[in-house]
Amino acid sequence: MRFLTGQAENPEPGRRAVLTRALGLAAAAGLATAAATPAAQAAVRASQADWRFCTKCYGLFFRGYPSDGACPAGGGHDSAGYNFNIPHDIPETPTAQHNWRFCTKCYGMFFWGYPDNGRCPAGNAHAAAGYDFVLPHDIPETANSQRNWRFCPKCYGLYFYGYPTNGRCPAGNAHSVAGYDFVLPHL
Ligand SMILES: [Zn+2]
Ligand SMILES: [Zn+2]
Ligand SMILES: [Zn+2]
Repeated sequence: MRFLTGQAENPEPGRRAVLTRALGLAAAAGLATAAATPAAQAAVRASQADWRFCTKCYGLFFRGYPSDGACPAGGGHDSAGYNFNIPHDIPETPTAQHNWRFCTKCYGMFFWGYPDNGRCPAGNAHAAAGYDFVLPHDIPETANSQRNWRFCPKCYGLYFYGYPTNGRCPAGNAHSVAGYDFVLPHL
């Protein structure tokens, strides 16, 4: 959460000051390049954009590939709305949950924290790959974030719960709701 607000509004003056001091020490030791590069890359790669809402199933899916995965409503997902920028590989906190993953079969975001992996619209369970996403939850919505993203206990997917209906679930009918109220940062 500190990272999110820091990135969106105020570029982490505390951490930057620490980094600057560290670089100063490294430069003095003749190690500036080796010390600076991994830290800079880690900062840049701490979130991934191109996550979008699907107008057909209401799920969150990754739109960064030429194709758009498998939608439980048929065909690929169709994107609309915000470009969500999702944090990953940062520590879990009381208001941020990790174990959210990209599914290589449907391109959706799903919860990987149970022994089974829910239901995938491409058949059987979801298959995890890539980053360990860490989703903020139960914090105030801002101009750069949207609440009402929820876990579906039927398919394990993440979907938008802000409409009167609940989209299309790969386990049948509409998604169900449980757990945290996720608040997703967007560009
Ligand atoms: Zn869809
Ligand atoms: Zn899937
Ligand atoms: Zn579902």
